Amino acid sequence: MSWNEAKPAEKANETGSQCTGSGSPGSAKHRVIGCLWDPLMASRPSERTLEQKQRAHKFLHELALPDGVYSKYLADSENFLAAAARFDKTCLPFRQLRWMKSKLFGRSLLIANFSSYQDSALADNNDAVAHSSMEVAGIHSPPAILTRKREGSVRLYRSILEHECVHIHQMLLGRMPKFSAKRGGPFQFLCEHTQLEFVAYYLQHFHWDVYDSKTMRGMGLEEWCCFRSYVSSLERTLLHLLSRDCKKSSLEDFLRNTADQLPGLLKPLGFSKETCQFYTGIFPQHLAAAWSNVGNLALQDLSMSNLGVLQKWLH
Ligand SMILES: [Zn+2]
Repeated sequence: MSWNEAKPAEKANETGSQCTGSGSPGSAKHRVIGCLWDPLMASRPSERTLEQKQRAHKFLHELALPDGVYSKYLADSENFLAAAARFDKTCLPFRQLRWMKSKLFGRSLLIANFSSYQDSALADNNDAVAHSSMEVAGIHSPPAILTRKREGSVRLYRSILEHECVHIHQMLLGRMPKFSAKRGGPFQFLCEHTQLEFVAYYLQHFHWDVYDSKTMRGMGLEEWCCFRSYVSSLERTLLHLLSRDCKKSSLEDFLRNTADQLPGLLKPLGFSKETCQFYTGIFPQHLAAAWSNVGNLALQDLSMSNLGVLQKWLH
């Protein structure tokens, strides 16, 4: 998929796509985005409702891997593990390559540990990412989770890894969206990306109730997941729109039309009409925050012409 081809990935010889995972609460990233949410619009439920349980169950059911798909994944992973074992450890981009059994799915998935984010695609505040493939001396892995040692809450870290396990399943099922610069394509990408992220965030936070109400800024489970899915997908879409491969007209089209189209994206996810209106009105600020979060990731690939369009629109 053309999920993400951020430059930092190349440093570590990783190829293919990535989904930026959940950063740490309280990071600069969250502070910037968080101030754009109106806390008066939502309150947090004290416990999971039957409807929420059914939704989580449905998502898990839809992500089940057919036996044949998982068997092939295991075989491809074993091949890659064997190939990596033949190399001098100091030549490998990762510190450790191993299996991790997902608590959500009960299946083992491939996970690579890195020493620090400088050595990997784990730029910014991401603790883990799901990659469609890693490469070692011309040998490609199946989808794998990349992570680095994380300080702090073990429970939160586990929830982040499980979020990435959801993306690995989505990759293996061929559900990851592809960015298209055609008319309407970027908005379509934003919609599809948001929907997939929503599933990952929902399963993460339904099962691991790791954030308190203050961290979630008063939002309930659905609203928090919608919010996180939308803003992270907006960042991903913007990265594509600002890349050298994307025509200026695609960005202009996206900037002109997206705010009005947002209710069509957000309503099916569970946003109220009032919240959709709120998001529509605050789209420029969300986009500015997205740019402040992804700017340092995109610098090497950036189209100066497209950046000029964005900056003119923002001011
Ligand atoms: Zn994600």
